[in-house]
Amino acid sequence: MARTVLVTGGNRGIGLAIAQAFAKQGDRVAVTHRGGDAPEGLFGVRCDVTDAESVEAAFTAVEAELGPVEVLVANAGITDDTLLLRMSEDQFTRVLDTNLTGAFRCAKRASAKMLRAKWGRMIFISSVVGLAGGAGQVNYAASKAGLVGVARSITRELGSRNITANVVAPGFIDTDMTAGLPEARRAEIRKSIPAGRMASPDEVAGVVTWLAGDAAGYVSGAVIPVDGGLGMGH
Ligand code: NDP
Repeated sequence: MARTVLVTGGNRGIGLAIAQAFAKQGDRVAVTHRGGDAPEGLFGVRCDVTDAESVEAAFTAVEAELGPVEVLVANAGITDDTLLLRMSEDQFTRVLDTNLTGAFRCAKRASAKMLRAKWGRMIFISSVVGLAGGAGQVNYAASKAGLVGVARSITRELGSRNITANVVAPGFIDTDMTAGLPEARRAEIRKSIPAGRMASPDEVAGVVTWLAGDAAGYVSGAVIPVDGGLGMGH
């Protein structure tokens, strides 16, 4: 059955791969983007997840074009790494506001229509760093760990209404976010991953489409690692 899907930050990287995977299986897919054009073949809505009015306007636009959002993928995210001693309060709150509060804004807005429909899927894109921590990533790790609490609380609140909320925790994925790392650091990272390589965004997308499908209807409050074995134990 075709669903209406909204992927935040779906204009590039992991979000784009997720949006394309849903589109390929015949779903109605909208992506948020902040500048430029929406990717070819996908319905784009301008949205900055740090702005509640912008989130409201984006959902209204998607509803008018594709119907109420049935599957929300809260993927938009940023990093702003530095060591704890050097991290400014602004650096901390800006990352939290995008990665965690942004996801909350979208989940809250989506939940009203999901409750009415008595069906919904929320998928939060976290990170292996959310559970394992990362030096220089106090802000990012806190935001990604927070998504686990969000998904599990939603599971308890809305689980009886046929709404699931899950977390996907990718390891190192080849996107703009990791492209900036020096080759020596990339080689070091590859060595630490049992799979011996980084993943492609499509390998995250496959898990997300599965979580949104009927086969995963009894999976909720889960944290699913897609990390080649990097974070084993969470
Ligand atoms: P990219 O940097 O390639 O893309 C980030 C996306 O988020 C872009 O679409 C960007 O939009 C969007 N975005 C950022 N801030 C906002 C905002 N305020 N409002 C709306 N959209 C915003 O990252 P990835 O594709 O690599 O990462 C996607 C998600 O996966 C992130 O949450 C990231 O933390 C997570 N992740 C990534 C990993 C990796 O190795 N790459 C590993 C683990 C998790 P715009 O184009 O307008 O900037």
